[in-house]
Amino acid sequence: MKILVINCGSSSIKYKVYEFPSRTLLIKGIIENVGDKSVSVANHSEGLKKVLSKLISKKVISDLKEINAVGHRVVHGGETFQQPRMINEEVIMKIKECSKLAPLHNPANLAGIIGCENIMANVPQVAVFDTAFHQTIPQYAYMYPIPMKYYKDDGVRKYGFHGTSHQFVALAAAKKLGKPFNALKLITCHLGNGCSITAIDKGKSVDTSMGLTPLEGLMMGTRCGDIDVAAAFCVMEKEAISVKEMDMVLNRKSGLLGISGISNDIRVIRKAADKGNPSAKLAIEMFMYRIKKYIGAYLLVLGGADAVCFTAGIGENNPDLIKEFKKQIDKLTSKKTKVLVIPTDEELMIASLTHEVVTASIKKKNVIALS
Ligand code: ADP
Repeated sequence: MKILVINCGSSSIKYKVYEFPSRTLLIKGIIENVGDKSVSVANHSEGLKKVLSKLISKKVISDLKEINAVGHRVVHGGETFQQPRMINEEVIMKIKECSKLAPLHNPANLAGIIGCENIMANVPQVAVFDTAFHQTIPQYAYMYPIPMKYYKDDGVRKYGFHGTSHQFVALAAAKKLGKPFNALKLITCHLGNGCSITAIDKGKSVDTSMGLTPLEGLMMGTRCGDIDVAAAFCVMEKEAISVKEMDMVLNRKSGLLGISGISNDIRVIRKAADKGNPSAKLAIEMFMYRIKKYIGAYLLVLGGADAVCFTAGIGENNPDLIKEFKKQIDKLTSKKTKVLVIPTDEELMIASLTHEVVTASIKKKNVIALS
């Protein structure tokens, strides 16, 4: 079975094709500048047509009919989607409803879904949600202690993100440890440009650091993570800036970039810190300290952990930083908690969830046909 994985951003389309069940990656690529008429990719539909002609020109397929399923990354599934879903009219409508929670992301994801439907009407399509894995978080952990009205009327609560990455890494950790996924306590740390940590108990997410939006939690490349909300009010008042401008400051100009003043890239910051730049040094100290606080909290939430797993750009490529965490985790847990580095693969997780959904639907159809 050939599965096309599509990740549509507002101006880009990332794609990968896998062969299942062998899980072999056949091709990957990206179409950039979607919406920029000067480079002839006027919209997502045009971009998707480009992707498909590339698959044919690179001989991954000889005909569109050879694509057996499409898996779409969808950022926000709200409380509606707890699992990946086969796409139909009702699912599209509900993804649209979730757009109010992710106004920059869900419309782009939907453009990808509708574009594929127009080009490959008979190919099953599956939506895989970044938020779905975290829908098992208990209410006492996902609620914000603000008037209940804002949860009931506006859906304001913690949702969490990076779900497919946390799930992929946790499953890989279970394999590595040689134990069933649903018998383990795990802490997964996704440290990329965006960073989040999840506590997983017996295969279920029970808490995660990101919130209503990806802004909450750890210090990130350009996002601030946890701060006193009143700090934002204070800056807005003193600098006379709007909500939109403040949102930009907290999402795009803060984190490692805001403190170091030089970059959001940890490689650049570490080089500067090694040369004695005090802001770069502080940025790394803050980044590490905030990760440490979450690991400590989740160790208590879970009542100990079988493993703490590190992944994504920073987690996979900075062994000396991970060694530092290992030293502290070993000391606290008397080496009972393993420290693992596991490369993430969100697209492979999307492909394998798509494979599961499509295979289950084929089986169901066969049973109905037989009965
Ligand atoms: P995104 O969240 O955009 O997918 P990534 O997972 O690629 O981000 O992570 C980006 C971060 O990973 C950057 O801070 C970058 O410095 C760091 N990183 C990526 N590759 C390396 C490397 N080889 N060595 C050290 N850090 C790296």
